[in-house]
Amino acid sequence: MSNTTKGKPSKKTTIINQCKINDFNAMMKEAGEAMDRVLARRKKDLENWGNDEQEEFYAIFGSKGARLVHVNMPIKGVENIVEIKALDVMKDCIRRLCEIKKKLTTDSYINLIYDPDNPEAPTNSKIPRDPNLPDTFCAYVNPEQQDNYKVNIGINFTGRINAKNMRACGEVMGESSRVSTLCHEISHFKKKFVDSSLGGMGTVDYDVDGHRREPTEEDKWTLIEHQSGAMKLIDKGSENVFDNSYNIEKYFEIIV
Ligand SMILES: [Zn+2]
Repeated sequence: MSNTTKGKPSKKTTIINQCKINDFNAMMKEAGEAMDRVLARRKKDLENWGNDEQEEFYAIFGSKGARLVHVNMPIKGVENIVEIKALDVMKDCIRRLCEIKKKLTTDSYINLIYDPDNPEAPTNSKIPRDPNLPDTFCAYVNPEQQDNYKVNIGINFTGRINAKNMRACGEVMGESSRVSTLCHEISHFKKKFVDSSLGGMGTVDYDVDGHRREPTEEDKWTLIEHQSGAMKLIDKGSENVFDNSYNIEKYFEIIV
């Protein structure tokens, strides 16, 4: 019997091209292809929906698939809360992520890589920086963009500073990986005004206490704090896990 839900790290999948940040397009192509595989696996998991898949879903979200979740499906911008089973919320999530992913091209990823420790590094982006932009970040989107999807990529996407104060290479797949980051970001895109079945999920980044944080509010939380907020929602069995991008990305931390 094959284990379809829990991908195991294999040397083959983790070592390819991880550090090739000198070729931005190659890095994004690799991440994009891995993302397609992760999304395909998750789509299959939710269709198979055997015991293993159900248990894994519960462990990740703290909610069972049959749980009714309140979801906003706005009609022409007017709030419209409907009840949808958690399983269907995630099936819908994958449909949306796949639709958007299909529309992404090399030009959709904006290279804003800058290493403040190496200001002259040839891998630093040549694009003039917005002075409000922090030097180091992982990735961000403007959730309002609805057709021309763009994902802005920062240096932490290539790898974060580790405990030894070295910038280590990021993983393509797995925990806090390039794939889970892209899934996180794409989930932020808002549902479309004309037809809310189209567009992203419109997730937001919940704060350290697991409270909803509007995208307009200042994000003063670190990654660890956001992750801690996500854990609190899981522990509480909150349905808001399906509205928090830090929880959504956990479903896409597999290695396939
Ligand atoms: Zn986010």
